[in-house]
Amino acid sequence: SLRVRGLVKRFGSFVAVDGLDLALTPGEFFCLLGPSGCGKSTLLRMVAGFETPTEGTIEVAGADVTGLPPHRRPVNMMFQSYALFPHMSVVANIGYGLKGLPKAKTEARVAELLRLVRLEGFQDRRPDTLSGGQRQRVALARAIAREPALLLLDEPLGALDRGLREETQGELRGLQRRLGTSFVVVTHDPEEAMMLADRIGVMERGRLVQVGPPAELYRRPVSRYVAGLLGDVN
Ligand code: ATP
Ligand code: MG
Repeated sequence: SLRVRGLVKRFGSFVAVDGLDLALTPGEFFCLLGPSGCGKSTLLRMVAGFETPTEGTIEVAGADVTGLPPHRRPVNMMFQSYALFPHMSVVANIGYGLKGLPKAKTEARVAELLRLVRLEGFQDRRPDTLSGGQRQRVALARAIAREPALLLLDEPLGALDRGLREETQGELRGLQRRLGTSFVVVTHDPEEAMMLADRIGVMERGRLVQVGPPAELYRRPVSRYVAGLLGDVN
């Protein structure tokens, strides 16, 4: 569903993404791990279309999207801050992801999405009256509203406290399975990646240094960095 070839992003003379290749299989749950500043968000932003690559190509669902604006790509991105509209109700926030659809269709789809993220009854609330986990689910509903072929999530659970985080991890994985959508999830938490991912990609200084199933990275890490990252996970 995603194929990235020779992707490079330079900011002036600084290389943020340094010749990156990656191919995802449809319906894959892919976790991206790596130190702060290694280029994870920059990679996601290029795939979503918010940043123009210096070099390289991006294919989603078999089509080259490299030159397309974000709204023309079958991709959606959920930011860490969730970026909900504070003055708009839950329904309006989710409906925003469906801009352009006829009203009746929007209403039916929003109702379906509310069920999917278990927020029935919350439709008229504003984001500032919701808990962190509920806000996260509103953002998730908005992100999946148009059934993207690929969903990019930049630290989707970063703002949640530990208990809620564990509960939400399972929900996220369950939702992904039901949708059959490929997810790319950036996380700072190796344990989370080990638990959720079909495959993990470890990034360092703009490159993917290792890509594989969790067990493989754990058993055969290619570097001390990868070993240290996953070694802390029991
Ligand atoms: P974190 O885990 O802290 O979110 P990250 O892996 O997501 O880090 P990026 O946000 O992708 O890191 O940034 C990668 C590098 O590129 C950083 O050194 C950052 O300062 C730099 N960078 C990102 N955007 C720009 C920009 N618009 N102009 C200049 N440098 C940038
Ligand atoms: Mg980031």
